[in-house]
Amino acid sequence: MAQLIDGKRISQEIKDELREEAGKLRERGLEACLAVVQVGEDPASSIYVRNKRRACEYVGIRSLLYTLEEAASQEDLLRLIRQLNNDPEVHGILVQLPLPPQIDEKAVLEAISPAKDVDGFHPVNVGKLCIGEKTYLPCTPAGIIELLKRSGVSIAGKECVVIGRSNIVGKPMAMLLLRENGTVTITHSKTENLKAVARRADILVVAVGKPGFLTREYVKEGAAVIDVGIHRDAHNKVCGDVDFADVSPVAGAITPVPGGVGPMTISMLMRNCLEAVKATVVSK
Ligand code: NAD
Repeated sequence: MAQLIDGKRISQEIKDELREEAGKLRERGLEACLAVVQVGEDPASSIYVRNKRRACEYVGIRSLLYTLEEAASQEDLLRLIRQLNNDPEVHGILVQLPLPPQIDEKAVLEAISPAKDVDGFHPVNVGKLCIGEKTYLPCTPAGIIELLKRSGVSIAGKECVVIGRSNIVGKPMAMLLLRENGTVTITHSKTENLKAVARRADILVVAVGKPGFLTREYVKEGAAVIDVGIHRDAHNKVCGDVDFADVSPVAGAITPVPGGVGPMTISMLMRNCLEAVKATVVSK
């Protein structure tokens, strides 16, 4: 039976470390401040926003919430972002996605100052990630690297296969695994012989966005399987992209859903917020 990679426990461990660090920063007069922007009242977004603000409170990061109504225009949102970019009290800016259809998500993410882009989505920061410069790491993939490291799964020299090539998970995941000296293959909906390619993996990261997609035929015996998916099944239970019951007997290590990758995303956001406030001192 596979080792269970406990994201809830590891995320708590990281938040405790960050809380200690935040305390030390406060003694030096540095208090991180995250501005969270939500447009509309999508219930799932409201839960994400609430969880992020709770984590801020736990770690000791100030959080400011800005809510715009569902019908807000792109200019309304861009104006707010410009205001936050220019506010020296604000160190990180997070715009909760998805945005209503009248707003161009790309234009909004590009408007956030790269220095305050704690989600790591701005093209400048994506570019820095690709060329190996220090930058804010995108939270979900960064959380997966921490899960692997803190569970004793070594990455260097290993075959890593990422299923999915989205800008927020698949692509940055591949870059981070490469940075850790993995041998990385990115696969997607057009990949031929996906099962055979996936079975090469020592580390298999699954971000396809399809509930229960990954079954044991995709998995080499002993592989570490990381499930990024989040869905609700027919019984309204949270589940992932991996068929956990089918895969866990053959995997060497596996993340559950819930309690695997999900909690890590928020703790990495908290880490980026502390990086943001520390950077203000370096740049002064
Ligand atoms: P996405 O829909 O943008 O991308 C899915 C990717 O899967 C695409 O690149 C596509 O090429 C690939 N794909 C689709 N069908 C495939 C197939 N049959 N074979 C191979 N590849 C296929 O999704 P995303 O934003 O990357 O998110 C993926 C999942 O992760 C979703 O369930 C999402 O909810 C979840 N997610 C979780 C977190 C977290 O914090 N845990 C964060 C972001 C996303």
